[in-house]
Amino acid sequence: MMLLTKKMIQIRSLLQTIGQSETLTLPSIVVIGSQSSGKSSVLEAIVGHEFLPKGSNMVTRRPIELTLVNTPDAHAEYGEFPALGLGKITDFTQIQKTLTDLNLAVPPSQCVSDDPIQLRIYSPNVPDLSLIDLPGYIQVVGRDQPADMKEKIAELCEKYIQQPNIILAISAADVDLANSTALRASRKVDPRGERTIGVITKMDLVDAARGNDILTDRKYALRLGYVGVVSRIPQPSTGLFKRGNGNITSAIVKNEHSYFSSHPTEFGPEASVSVGTTNLRKKLMTVLETTMASSLKSTSEAIQSELAEATYEFKVQYNDRPLSAETYLAESLDAYKHSFRQFSETFGREEVRSLLKTELDQQVLNLLAQRYWNKPLQDLNTPLPEADPLSELPKADPEHPLWTLKLDASTASLTKLGIGRLATTVVAKALQAQVDRLTATSTFASHPFARKAISEASTSILKDLSYDISDELEICIKPYKYRVEVNDAEWSHGRENITGVLKEELRVCEGAVKDVENEVGGRKRLKDVMGFIDRVRGGQVVLEGDGVGGAGGFSASLLRRGRDAVFLRDRADIIKMRLLAVKSKQCANRKNKYYCPEVFLDAVADKLTTTADLFLDAELLSKFYYSFPRELDAKLGHSLSKDDIERFAREDPKIKRHLDVVKRKDLLEHVLKEMDALRALEAREVRRGGNR
Ligand code: GDP
Repeated sequence: MMLLTKKMIQIRSLLQTIGQSETLTLPSIVVIGSQSSGKSSVLEAIVGHEFLPKGSNMVTRRPIELTLVNTPDAHAEYGEFPALGLGKITDFTQIQKTLTDLNLAVPPSQCVSDDPIQLRIYSPNVPDLSLIDLPGYIQVVGRDQPADMKEKIAELCEKYIQQPNIILAISAADVDLANSTALRASRKVDPRGERTIGVITKMDLVDAARGNDILTDRKYALRLGYVGVVSRIPQPSTGLFKRGNGNITSAIVKNEHSYFSSHPTEFGPEASVSVGTTNLRKKLMTVLETTMASSLKSTSEAIQSELAEATYEFKVQYNDRPLSAETYLAESLDAYKHSFRQFSETFGREEVRSLLKTELDQQVLNLLAQRYWNKPLQDLNTPLPEADPLSELPKADPEHPLWTLKLDASTASLTKLGIGRLATTVVAKALQAQVDRLTATSTFASHPFARKAISEASTSILKDLSYDISDELEICIKPYKYRVEVNDAEWSHGRENITGVLKEELRVCEGAVKDVENEVGGRKRLKDVMGFIDRVRGGQVVLEGDGVGGAGGFSASLLRRGRDAVFLRDRADIIKMRLLAVKSKQCANRKNKYYCPEVFLDAVADKLTTTADLFLDAELLSKFYYSFPRELDAKLGHSLSKDDIERFAREDPKIKRHLDVVKRKDLLEHVLKEMDALRALEAREVRRGGNR
């Protein structure tokens, strides 16, 4: 019953998924031998395929951890490199090529590496075995090889042939056993020959009597004994088989059998020696199974202590908080939707209104500056017609038809501004900014994948909604394009509001002058340059050239800043003047709308805002608040595969560590249970009088 090895191999594969630690190495059969001793041939005879790298240039530079998995019910034979994720490889020449590439990737200067290559082979024709192939010992270092190569190989082999591994020491029959490097190395670590199996290859190259002598050697007695083999692959010309992907075991075995059976005295049943690849395979299985059994206890203990460590970490670092990628995603999503709901409760019609009104206040100010109180910034070399900087400002003259026209045109500019689009865009942008803010403060912040999904969800919903909404809103405000009536209450409200807006604008202007003042290095300096500019504009000073290179003792950049300040000062003066006008008695009466365009335009803007906020609240906000969480569910919920979710959760290093600990702990618990079951089974076997 070879159940134990199989189970233990499965357990090892499991442990490898969480990064097997040093303490958890399960026993393997380590294959050592000199170069050309026939090491590869033996391994290939066991596997039944040529798959090892061949070539004169020392091709094995890394240990190959070869796991053979017997799959009794399958037909296919294939290999897998678990660390490479290449999937099942059914073509053994491809495996050979991959192994060659992996080995050649070790730079020749380094000659060998102790980083093992993991290879699993699944086949109904292989036994369950765990083997490690190592670089062959060399006798002399080649001219183009590093001088310490011999020692490095020996060191690497020595590292692997330690307890509890079994040593498969390969020696060729045509070389004196006293000269076998493999046996010498094994004796060093296993002086009593308790865990070494001697394999004598090339039995066909010595005469049968000598072959028998070697196998019954007493000088280098091994408790597990010697096995003689002829594992050379018969040439295709013998017609026994075709080279390629077919299984070669039977061809080798047939060839071997014909040799040994032709010398019955030396190798027959009477000779009491062990020969043949088939016997070798059996021996390997039995020995490994026994070793596995005897290491059950220590392995269990090692797993127990790993588990204790993981449990401790889980408790101390994570407060025993269970976590899986799925629950993490679900919790994150819930928390996000919750904060979104909270936001949606604080962002309604009122907030939309204030956003839109602020936007339209700006539009009103721009219109006023353009159509009414504009005084273009003069070039330095174009003096103003009159000395008083405000003298050329038009005086409001309500009697004049021009002033009627002016107000009608300004009103039209406002109503035909494209409020539908403007208002929708402003609100959609504000919503998007809120979503981004929520994302940045949520657990999703450290998950690029989720951040992208959320942002895409909101953008696409807002884009779809905005398209229709802006057109529909435009239709809603259509009546105002023809006629806007303002009643007393609206007028006085407008008057109040625009006063606030003008005051704020004045504050901003004066603040900007202060900034320029600080920039140029003081009030006095700025005053001087502004005085100079005023004199130029007033014609009191004639500027030579265009002043670009500086003038009046002021540098070009100082003049530029001075001009900015003059502009700001003039604007502040205009605003002050208009504030006085708006506050005046005349503007208290809506009949005087031509005299007070600010108030009238503000009232118009207010009407537009009222229409828009009502509409946007109903159409944009409520629809967005409905669709967005559902879209999140779709994007981050049901549509994700298990792998996606795992990848998502692991994007955050903190979560990844937490998940790893949970996984490690769960796995070790599972493995420990399996081990306990195996130990119980093993104990029963022993009680039943098994031969272990
Ligand atoms: P490695 O360098 O130890 O892996 O040795 P190989 O398995 O590559 O074998 C070296 C050479 O010995 C090859 O040419 C094999 O064909 C040959 N060889 C291996 N085993 C036998 C054998 O049992 N009998 C004979 N005659 N030749 C063998």
